[in-house]
Amino acid sequence: MRVTTQPYDPGPAAWNALLPDSPAHAPLDGDITADVLVIGAGFTGLTAARRLNQLDPNLNIVVLEARRVAEGPAGRNSGFMIDLPHNLSSKDYAGAKASDLAQTHVNRAAIAFAEQAANDLNMGTEAFALTGKINAAATTKGDAHNRDYVSHLDAMGEPHELLDAVNMRAICGSSYYRSGLFTPGTAMLQPALYIRNLARGIIERGVMLHEASPVIDLSNLSDNWHAKTPSGTVTAPSVVLATNGHAESFGLFKRRLMHVYLYASMTRAMCDNEVSTLGGRDRWAFTPADPMGTTVRRISGTGGTRIVVRNGFTWAPERVVTVDRLALMKRAHRRSFDNRFPALKAVEMEHVWGGLLCLSRNNAPAYGEVQPGLFSACCQNGLGTAMGTAAGMAIAERILGVSSHLDEHFSAQPAPSKLPPPVIANIGANAVLRWKEQRAGREL
Ligand SMILES: Cc1cc2nc3c(=O)[nH]c(=O)nc-3n(C[C@H](O)[C@H](O)[C@H](O)COP(=O)(O)OP(=O)(O)OC[C@H]3O[C@@H](n4cnc5c(N)ncnc54)[C@H](O)[C@@H]3O)c2cc1C
Repeated sequence: MRVTTQPYDPGPAAWNALLPDSPAHAPLDGDITADVLVIGAGFTGLTAARRLNQLDPNLNIVVLEARRVAEGPAGRNSGFMIDLPHNLSSKDYAGAKASDLAQTHVNRAAIAFAEQAANDLNMGTEAFALTGKINAAATTKGDAHNRDYVSHLDAMGEPHELLDAVNMRAICGSSYYRSGLFTPGTAMLQPALYIRNLARGIIERGVMLHEASPVIDLSNLSDNWHAKTPSGTVTAPSVVLATNGHAESFGLFKRRLMHVYLYASMTRAMCDNEVSTLGGRDRWAFTPADPMGTTVRRISGTGGTRIVVRNGFTWAPERVVTVDRLALMKRAHRRSFDNRFPALKAVEMEHVWGGLLCLSRNNAPAYGEVQPGLFSACCQNGLGTAMGTAAGMAIAERILGVSSHLDEHFSAQPAPSKLPPPVIANIGANAVLRWKEQRAGREL
């Protein structure tokens, strides 16, 4: 199958831009063989490679990445590795209790894996820290969502703490928020630092990683898969497709995956005066009480003290966006920032960027052996730091025939459900996104 579309990531991967340059991994050059080929070096692909290597250190594993490590969505997300249910299409993130308990179990397996990797590879607390997060509410409706979610957490037996406006101001320095809901189990990542370290870890253990090596054709001949890049081929009996929404570019899950760009901006480093004007804690991490609202994080580490703002979705069935989209998003982020931090008007946004998410209508993953020897661990439904990690672990365990509760979990999920015909889906999706954004009001 010819690969129809290659990744397009608008703007810089800001988290990666904060870090010193990393050594490049040469593009694939020539024809090689592997026991397992992993396509895509994000959370899913790198986790799959690490887990395969843990289970069988003698396995010859090759990873092909179209871009550089941490330049794709793995270095563009907000870094919340969330343990609890976080269904982006529900009003308060919750679903049915039984499936939420199962989902939490899976997310925690992923967080435990990431924590172990962070410890083994001495990543440091900037890359991975189990600090928890706050669901921040700026409106009475947002506050009501949080309270609904509390009753759900009580039923699940999950610890939490409700914060009032005074507590919220003490944490973030802004009086914008009415309340917050703290839950302790989320790990906060500097995503590019974590992902670079994960890549370093597998390379140290003998895995071959080639950057700037987009797979342009994948075909099956005599029980082997042949992946072609512009300058070589990899032949392997087993392939892990860890390309998230780009599974569809390989001709798989056609009209079952929804492609959406999501946007974020990061301020420049603040000076000491600005930091003391802001007040509050050194680091905090807020998801919005309305899933269409604004995620806000304060970071202090490599690159100084900065604020990261994330909101805005665009439907992108062709997996591209127009160039002027980032300018529009920068203005929208500026508004969200100014509303929250009116005293910081002089603090410019240094970076604005977008990244591709993959969702399915029924919130299901695109997981399993889709053709003999071709394994998909795609469609993370917007929560790939945890879900991609779990799917990468699961698919590695499945390939090596290891008994795996994660593989059982993913295999028991339905397939992504079919989308309506493109014209209806396109008009409907954009209308629903804009309507939901409007409804989010001051949570934006
Ligand atoms: C602004 C923003 C904020 C977000 N915030 C969060 C958050 O806080 N928490 C969270 O859990 N998730 C968040 N996400 C979503 C998260 O980034 C994704 O779910 C996650 O990156 C998916 O991981 P993955 O490894 O499955 O896929 P990806 O990270 O997309 O990795 C797939 C890789 O495959 C490569 N690839 C694609 N096609 C080919 C090809 N033909 N050949 C070779 N390589 C190929 C791509 O270059 C890419 O590097 C956010 C996303 C964005 C954009």
